[in-house]
Amino acid sequence: METVTFDLPARHQELRERARKVADDVRWRAGVADAATDVDPVMRDALRASGLVELAVRTGADEVVDPLAVTVVREAFGGVSAHLDSLFAMQGIGSYALAVAGGARAQREWLPRVVALDAIAALGLTEPGVGSDLKAITTTVRAEGGELVVDGRKSFITNAPAAAFVTVLAKEGDGYSLVLVPTGIPGVTVESGPDLIAPHVIGDVVLDGVRVPADARVGEPGQAFPLVLQTLATFRVSVAGSAVGLAQAALDEAVAHTTSREQFGTTLARLGPLPQMLGTCWTEIEQARLLTYAAATRAGADPVGALHWSSMAKVAATEAAARVVDRCVQMMGRFGIVTGSTIERLYRNARPMRIYEGGNEVLLGQLAKTLTRPT
Ligand SMILES: Cc1cc2nc3c(=O)[nH]c(=O)nc-3n(C[C@H](O)[C@H](O)[C@H](O)COP(=O)(O)OP(=O)(O)OC[C@H]3O[C@@H](n4cnc5c(N)ncnc54)[C@H](O)[C@@H]3O)c2cc1C
Repeated sequence: METVTFDLPARHQELRERARKVADDVRWRAGVADAATDVDPVMRDALRASGLVELAVRTGADEVVDPLAVTVVREAFGGVSAHLDSLFAMQGIGSYALAVAGGARAQREWLPRVVALDAIAALGLTEPGVGSDLKAITTTVRAEGGELVVDGRKSFITNAPAAAFVTVLAKEGDGYSLVLVPTGIPGVTVESGPDLIAPHVIGDVVLDGVRVPADARVGEPGQAFPLVLQTLATFRVSVAGSAVGLAQAALDEAVAHTTSREQFGTTLARLGPLPQMLGTCWTEIEQARLLTYAAATRAGADPVGALHWSSMAKVAATEAAARVVDRCVQMMGRFGIVTGSTIERLYRNARPMRIYEGGNEVLLGQLAKTLTRPT
């Protein structure tokens, strides 16, 4: 049985500190940004000035994205602002396939602008009728007169309202292809929303007879799924980083509250089950962090080969974050449920993490298959 051990390398400790500084400087804006349904200009400027996006975006064929670097940055961002975290991560997720297998012209046109946050990238997999079961998509692409024609509707696409392009998964004959679709061309309509319990820059992308040049296909015809898999394998573990950061921030709030408020002549932190709750939160966060760092390191060496570790980390950290933040709200009593408070925002932000980047039940099902596969 494999076991994990871990020490965070000095370079990654430095990156995490650098990202913490960036997040701390915009902490004052987090409430506004996390309620926004379009890209927040303050967060965008701060992220641009930080230069950190270059960690998430692969700009050349010989470059690699280091999942541990992305993970520690998301840990720092996730504890402060879901909006900042998502803006950072999606530049990488939306452009990864383009960087790996896109045409040279499209790479030259878009990737430097993605790194500079002058072009917002998006990845369009989900459809109104299709979530986890991606092979059931109905969006199509067909070659016609030296061009590609794309028809369909992509749904719940992060950053769609602000996106310069969407990397779209579409059926091509009996297979599936990825196509780079700029949002500003005829036939593309973006509809914002819906409103979520944790607001998010999200929207539907309607594709109505959209014509793009033949070199807008990313990779070979019919070869979308290996690219989608590579994208998910590189970035999934970073969701765990974000969840660890969020859980830590919730615990920090609860510690500050329970050590400063007194009831029955002593601090809350000494009352009834609250010490156990605090200790359990800390233990679960450190467990999740250890697995997350270890999985991200493995993903760096072989993203697809380590996908089961990334999935485990994503499930463990997002489920832990949900438990931790719920306990923290409870420990803070009525102050934990005040709209606009930090803990209330963290509570809401924790919820979607168990659904996106692979629903946790889907990932657990895949882990069970890996575990029980005959050797
Ligand atoms: C905030 C947010 C941002 C998003 N951003 C993007 C984006 O940028 N691009 C994009 O393409 N999509 C995006 N999505 C969509 C996301 O990828 C889907 O929500 C996700 O794939 C799950 O699909 P679904 O919501 O349709 O749930 P369903 O697939 O309908 O699943 C519903 C429930 O059933 C469980 N389930 C489904 N299949 C199985 C199975 N085989 N075994 C066990 N359990 C199963 C799921 O885990 C879930 O609990 C985003 C979603 C959210 C919430």
